[in-house]
Amino acid sequence: MSPPGAPALKPAPPEGMAEGRPLSKAQHAAPAAKVPAKSPAQKALDKLGLRRDIDLALHLPLRYEDETRIARLADARDGDLVQIEGQVTHSEITFRPRRQLRVTLDDGTGSCVLRFLNFYPSHQKTLSVGSQVRVRGELRGGFVAREMVHPSFRLAGGELPQSLSPVYSTVAGLPQAYLRKAVLGGLARADLSETIPPEFLSQIGPLPLSSLRDALQFLHHPRPDVALAALEDRSHPAWQRLKAEELLAQQLSQLQARRVRAAMRAPALNGALRRVGRQATLQARLLEGLPFRLTAAQQRVGAEIEADLKKHIPMHRLLQGDVGAGKTVVAALAAARCMDAGWQCALMAPTEILAEQHFSKLVSWLEPLGVKTAWLTGSQKTKKRREMLALIESGEAGLVIGTHAVIQDKVRFKKLALAIIDEQHRFGVAQRLALRSKMTGDGQDSGQEPHLLMMTATPIPRTLAMSYYADLDVSTLDELPPGRTPITTKLVNDARRDEVIERIRGQLLEGRQIYWVCPLIEESESIDLVNATQTHEDLSRALPGVGVGLLHSRMPVAEKKAVMSLFTEGVMGVLVSTTVIEVGVDVPNASLMVIEHAERFGLSQLHQLRGRVGRGAAASACVLLYSTGDAPRLGELARARLKAMAETNDGFEIARRDLEIRGPGEFLGARQSGAPLLRFADLATDAELLAWARELAPLMLDRHAGLAQRHIQRWLGGKAEFLKA
Ligand code: ADP
Ligand code: MG
Repeated sequence: MSPPGAPALKPAPPEGMAEGRPLSKAQHAAPAAKVPAKSPAQKALDKLGLRRDIDLALHLPLRYEDETRIARLADARDGDLVQIEGQVTHSEITFRPRRQLRVTLDDGTGSCVLRFLNFYPSHQKTLSVGSQVRVRGELRGGFVAREMVHPSFRLAGGELPQSLSPVYSTVAGLPQAYLRKAVLGGLARADLSETIPPEFLSQIGPLPLSSLRDALQFLHHPRPDVALAALEDRSHPAWQRLKAEELLAQQLSQLQARRVRAAMRAPALNGALRRVGRQATLQARLLEGLPFRLTAAQQRVGAEIEADLKKHIPMHRLLQGDVGAGKTVVAALAAARCMDAGWQCALMAPTEILAEQHFSKLVSWLEPLGVKTAWLTGSQKTKKRREMLALIESGEAGLVIGTHAVIQDKVRFKKLALAIIDEQHRFGVAQRLALRSKMTGDGQDSGQEPHLLMMTATPIPRTLAMSYYADLDVSTLDELPPGRTPITTKLVNDARRDEVIERIRGQLLEGRQIYWVCPLIEESESIDLVNATQTHEDLSRALPGVGVGLLHSRMPVAEKKAVMSLFTEGVMGVLVSTTVIEVGVDVPNASLMVIEHAERFGLSQLHQLRGRVGRGAAASACVLLYSTGDAPRLGELARARLKAMAETNDGFEIARRDLEIRGPGEFLGARQSGAPLLRFADLATDAELLAWARELAPLMLDRHAGLAQRHIQRWLGGKAEFLKA
């Protein structure tokens, strides 16, 4: 909405014709803008990824405009987007409310006024009294005073287009007319020969039989009699054909990546070479020493991983489990199996705090059993770093834990066999690839790859997993360890902040601890900081005599650690922080989580934060403080997120709703998946086509390898590379 007093927004010009500029006849049929090489428009094409002819041909219209008909003013209604042909009966420049060109057009059945706020002498010339013109725009107003603001126009006459005019998605600097011409050219030049063998088209699924070429020709230039609804909701057979092709490309490339991997070698971790002193394996002794029993889910998932590790094929497995489900111990058991076989294991976490937590936990479990652990992080002193590197290179360290520092060039493993990545969605494709290339020493000599275990607390909904992660085996921890009490979640308006502080006081009296999280403002880390600092001061004042700590991302690591350990030891009652605690902090005595400006957080982030409480026996709660700012109420999406949080504690349900709210593009984007996104197919509605593509992909790779390669190349070009991670 425009604020009161602002000038009225001018209606968006119809994109079929250039705005406020007369189009020549030639341009109308096929815009003939001659543009030198490396023009801004060409750069814009590059930006859209439209480099090859086939890319252009596959750039399908967002929608269509019907320029095949001339309407009669007498029949047109307020709000109609119409094309009218008539005679100019009046033309003048007026100055109120501001300078503008006003032209009256009469088509014999009625008249309307054309208004131009920006205009050139050429406008006036084309639109001079007596001219016959064709105009196109949105008709506004009642029968008496109808007008079009900034319609596109040109001299009347000439043939009407025979098909609907496509409107393509574009970017700044790339005029629709130029793009149309480029797409037409690409479509004419591209190799559109069939890649899907006919027997598959006819045998499987409800696919239309039209050829790719026909489908594309049709979608770029549909006949005017086609049902626009079928085009717009993409249910038309031509759309079905394109979506099927796209899904097939995706499935083929993933299956191919899987097969490439299956052809690679990894050390089979089935021996038990390392029996530190006693007869039992490290893994058995680790299990024996745990202060708890594994849940059934942990046992099942552990067995799935074991089975992979014993093979000569590199594992590529995602372990997903809700916050607090107990992924760490599963990772530790896998690491133990790896060391039992005489190999090294690396564990990489996205933040230093998280890596540190893993380190202390794993060290406490494994060092008493004789395992040497190396620690790698960016903030380490050079001397310490050198020591660690030596331990890793000599193979003395069986287990290496750290942050991104683990994948730095200088790090050389003697014999790495298993790489574990925690919170995998926080790492980019390149980083995952780097970790996999870390097999040096013995591994490199034999051309082997390490096994890869990725962990995440943000589960991937099934449809996405099937589609985007077909080259990934998934293990799911669908059970929480016993003794957890469910967390109650409350939405509280920020105006009632005092009541929340009262509640904190109550919890403190019961000896409990509290997290207070301040929002992350992406554009400005410093505002972020002011926020947290202010809240820290307020709480310190409101809760005298209580240790209130502050933790934020800009603090030196040593200071962060000091604060963390004061909180962990219970010396501090309240921890105010920015989202640095988002992942991995484990303080069972904390029973209340307050999230300030909860409306600014993403859903999975909120869920992760909430998972920091409810880890002990005490009843836990999460308070989502929201503020509507100056607005009367929260935005729709923010409301949907908070509602989901209040309604469920289940990470899988949260992920499902998150996908619903954000759509796959953003959902996956947050994971830096690197997977080429689907442009046309929609997993929510195209399940049947996905099933078809999944069934066809292996058959096609087996029987028509050449066609399969052409198909992948056509649809994904260079993007298929990403799938290797
Ligand atoms: P996450 O899956 O979020 O990484 P963690 O591995 O940090 O979860 O486990 C959360 C807490 O639960 C830790 O304190 C861990 O020691 C504990 N835990 C893990 N498995 C069990 C179990 N089977 N029984 C009881 N407690 C467990
Ligand atoms: Mg964890």
